[in-house]
Amino acid sequence: MGSYLITGGAGFIGSHLAERLLRDGHRVLVLDDLSTGSLENLETACLSDRFQFVNGSVSNDHVVREMVDAVDTVFHLAATVGVLKIMEKPAETIANNIRGAEIVLEAARRGKKKVVVTSTSEVYGKTASVPFREDGDMVLGSSYFVRWGYAASKVLDEFLARAYFQEHGVPTIVVRPFNTIGPRQVGTYGMVVPRLMEQALRGEELTVYGDGGQTRCFTYVADTVEWLYRLTQKDAAVGEVFNLGNPHEISIRGLAERIVRITGSRSRIRFIPYAEAYQPGFEDMGRRVPCNEKVLGMTGHAPSCDLDAALHHIHQWLAPRHKNVQAARAIAQEVSL
Ligand code: UDP
Repeated sequence: MGSYLITGGAGFIGSHLAERLLRDGHRVLVLDDLSTGSLENLETACLSDRFQFVNGSVSNDHVVREMVDAVDTVFHLAATVGVLKIMEKPAETIANNIRGAEIVLEAARRGKKKVVVTSTSEVYGKTASVPFREDGDMVLGSSYFVRWGYAASKVLDEFLARAYFQEHGVPTIVVRPFNTIGPRQVGTYGMVVPRLMEQALRGEELTVYGDGGQTRCFTYVADTVEWLYRLTQKDAAVGEVFNLGNPHEISIRGLAERIVRITGSRSRIRFIPYAEAYQPGFEDMGRRVPCNEKVLGMTGHAPSCDLDAALHHIHQWLAPRHKNVQAARAIAQEVSL
């Protein structure tokens, strides 16, 4: 059986990945500073005696080196993510993303450990030719706009991964997830699906930015995780870049309407100008569609969960939590009366 380190493993994608690896009998170490992840996400993983959690940061190179030495394969998922977080802390975002990848790759260098570096579909930026292919151009906007700093930091991570492969023989794989969704994703820092679903459950207006005509391709987390795992089993994946996405496209307005239907909410949709939602001059992407032929061909795994099924799973996870919060609020109110 194999042994894996997941940096950022207490986060949304990382915690699902940990469970997937444990299910196949592997040993899993997680390094996470719990800045946006949570121990609650690891409740199931913690039940296994093949699982170990370390509360620490990827910027701590001693800890990273020790943990990388102890495994065969590393999934580097730790990063600052979420459009709102990135806009709020641009310097921290850029530094964390670049430093984290460099420390992990450097730690992997001695033992030539396999490293999966998680990039993002944001790197395609304003590319107009859909679907996006891995060898296509990346068209980023001006450095006057904070958003592109996140994309640029991830582009640099990709170049670093390729450079460590070419120059130092570290077997690296780069992946670009496209709007991954599923249970455990939180809407605090952006992430449209949990935000709109929480609004629907609270009976509030659903906040759709711009005219809602912009599209995204939402990908269920179990599919993303399956691709991540299977790529590490394929020697031919080393040195390559892969889109991880489901090409089914939907407008954000269409998404909001589906969420209203699935939750049975009476909420209405409110359109908010981008400048109000983010900041003046904010640039959004009109369309973001992956070509996923490469990952399908390499792993043999096709997306197994469509958008409606994914939204149902998320609703099932979120609805009871929402009820608990409401019940706790009611009790708190009674106590204070
Ligand atoms: N969005 C929205 N309402 C929200 C949050 C996001 O309309 O409350 C829009 C956002 O402007 C973008 C899309 O939904 O066009 C996806 O946003 P998200 O932050 O989930 O990810 P992105 O694809 O921008 O990285």
